[in-house]
Amino acid sequence: AEPEALVAAVIDALAPPRLRGLRVLVTAGPTHEHLDPVRFLGNPSTGKAGVAIAAALQRAGAQVTLVHGPISVPIPSGVEGVPVVSARDMHAAVFAAFEAAPPDVAILTAAVSDFRPANVAPMKIKKGDASLTLDLVRNPDILADLGHARTGPRPLLIGFAAETGDPIAYARRKLLDKRCDLIVANDVTAPGAGFGTETNRVHLVTGDGVETLPLQLKTTIAERLVTWIADRLASGLTPSGPTRCASGDRPGAPA
Ligand code: C5P
Repeated sequence: AEPEALVAAVIDALAPPRLRGLRVLVTAGPTHEHLDPVRFLGNPSTGKAGVAIAAALQRAGAQVTLVHGPISVPIPSGVEGVPVVSARDMHAAVFAAFEAAPPDVAILTAAVSDFRPANVAPMKIKKGDASLTLDLVRNPDILADLGHARTGPRPLLIGFAAETGDPIAYARRKLLDKRCDLIVANDVTAPGAGFGTETNRVHLVTGDGVETLPLQLKTTIAERLVTWIADRLASGLTPSGPTRCASGDRPGAPA
């Protein structure tokens, strides 16, 4: 067996499945916003953090659906993968998963492109002139749409924030604007942190305060998040009651 499989088996054997019976939706990876059939706008996200979280949740007994953009890491066995390409595809897949079976927890780690080309050329754009101007339009914000569609504490809603400035200040604002329970914030310019690395240094930002985790493996951060979720659900702030999560619930949300 590979070392990762041994580690997973040992963790399984030692720890009782803390999230058994929970349904969790995770998003991961970048989105690709095509401008023509062969070119797109994207970002360097590899999906490592989201996949590590999906694997940790699955080991903890949760039933995990992973809606992912084009990623370069394999989907963990036992996790249901839903591949998408663009932000609008991801939005549709997330809300379809909510309609099919509302999750108890949603963790949105995907690095979703905020903009897409206003027009997609049906044929490859030719070089032609010396410059090319692209018109961009805003993509839907999946996390904010979920936060605003939520009518009760379910699902527990966790977002990520990759920043290049003051990650804690931005995370506090996102917590309110996107109506989440937790924002996992990091400075992507810090050494060992951000896109494509095995490690990260993050701040867990909630309405109650900030917990800073030192630089550590993304897999260890994923285990910490499992503990955070288990503690939160056990603390009396347990999600309960019906939640309608339809994109039409929020004015301006795309169909
Ligand atoms: O606003 P910002 O992009 O920094 O927010 C990051 C968080 O919001 C992440 O959890 C990301 O997955 C989510 N997000 C989203 N849809 C977008 C943009 C971001 O779900 N269009």
